Amino acid sequence: MRAAVFHGAHDIRVESVPEPGEPGPGEVLLRPYWCGICGTDLHEYAVGPIVIPTEPHPLTSARAPQILGHEFSGEVAAVGPGVHGLRVGERVSVMPILTCGNCYFCRRGLGHLCVSMGCIGLSFDWGAIAELAIVPARNVTPIPDSMTEIQGALVEPTAVAAYGVDSARVRPGESVLISGAGPIGVLAALYAEALGAAVYISEVNPIRAELARSLAIGEVLDPSAIDVSAHLRDRTGGIGVDAVVECSGNERALHAGFAAVRSAGRITQTGLFTKPASIDPMALAQREITYNGTWCYPLNDWPRIIDLIARKGIPVQKVVTAQIGAEDLVEKGFETLLSPTGNEVKVLVNAR
Ligand SMILES: [Zn+2]
Ligand SMILES: [Zn+2]
Repeated sequence: MRAAVFHGAHDIRVESVPEPGEPGPGEVLLRPYWCGICGTDLHEYAVGPIVIPTEPHPLTSARAPQILGHEFSGEVAAVGPGVHGLRVGERVSVMPILTCGNCYFCRRGLGHLCVSMGCIGLSFDWGAIAELAIVPARNVTPIPDSMTEIQGALVEPTAVAAYGVDSARVRPGESVLISGAGPIGVLAALYAEALGAAVYISEVNPIRAELARSLAIGEVLDPSAIDVSAHLRDRTGGIGVDAVVECSGNERALHAGFAAVRSAGRITQTGLFTKPASIDPMALAQREITYNGTWCYPLNDWPRIIDLIARKGIPVQKVVTAQIGAEDLVEKGFETLLSPTGNEVKVLVNAR
């Protein structure tokens, strides 16, 4: 079968690999539909391997070369022995994280912090940018008829975004600044708006700002043109916003968030920084600001996120700016997403 295989930095090959065969007990064989390329994949391509193991992974024994793809929807092609509640032909969305079930964190329902965490498409025998993939049945949730396969592939980044907004304890009627209008920022804005919050989005990149503006869910601010925190204090009677969800991983945006949030407000760090940044502990103390981080999502959030997208018709698909075939993965996917002049926000791949 055809698959996109990571061999090393700047070395992803779309090549022929052996098919997975029949699923074992507790497993399902999927035919992936769409799969998102995410920041982690880009990092692996640019400077990896980082997450992709070069020695056998402690949980899964997988190691490079690795079939990529972890944000995906698919169709059930076969179910293994002992699998209940999934039928051949059913459309599903996949939660890609694999956990040991036994460590301190797993035993406390915090599997996303598992000490030996693995991930489909990064540290597992199979990935979604392939014609077929075997995954554990417990990672698979059916999607309703009203949900498209593209939306099914966006449950994963939506779960990341939702966790950021939830961690900032955003409530209906509150105001929230989302800094960064990449895929996670846009999805966080859509989720916060669905919760009933007043949403503000800051973004310097004009293409991304335009995409955010097209959603018509809140004011989109250009931090290179205006003082975002002064503007937001102005909008909130001089007080500041109730919450900030930092989705850019940019130090200036973080500082703007501190300046924009009200006293006793909350800032959640969802965007990933690649280097240390400064914060002002005096502001935390004096203004009783809460600053916390989020990693991935609660692993049991798939049914809720799927229901929310389907029932409220949240247009998560609007983050998608390109849909490509596997043959274009490197050129139109990785290279374009990493290019400083590239215009893409979210690229989905289909290896069928
Ligand atoms: Zn990802
Ligand atoms: Zn664990």
